[in-house]
Amino acid sequence: MTAPDPGLTDLIAAHPRLPIHVFEDRHRYRCLCGWFEDVEPGEFTPHPAHVAFVVEQHTNGRITELEARIAEAQSLCNATGRYNAARQKHWNIRVFACDVLAALKGRAALEGEQQ
Ligand SMILES: [Zn+2]
Repeated sequence: MTAPDPGLTDLIAAHPRLPIHVFEDRHRYRCLCGWFEDVEPGEFTPHPAHVAFVVEQHTNGRITELEARIAEAQSLCNATGRYNAARQKHWNIRVFACDVLAALKGRAALEGEQQ
């Protein structure tokens, strides 16, 4: 089970529906955030759609934020991969140089014995 988004709970709590204001020809639905919408009596309550929109915006923001972090992690991972490849190449060259040096020393020692 995934942990709930703590920001989402606060976000929803910040958007309670205020008492409906009744006009002669329409009802005004209001939210604590200042949002309101007038509908004809008997029409659906628009407040849940308002809260759903706010949640959607919040969620889209979180997704964008997470995608940016994933891209950053991917970029770091690629950089680490390049660094490791360069280190490996450097190490291979060192090993090769040591082998060449050992071979030269061995050959010099052999030549010394032969003289
Ligand atoms: Zn609101």
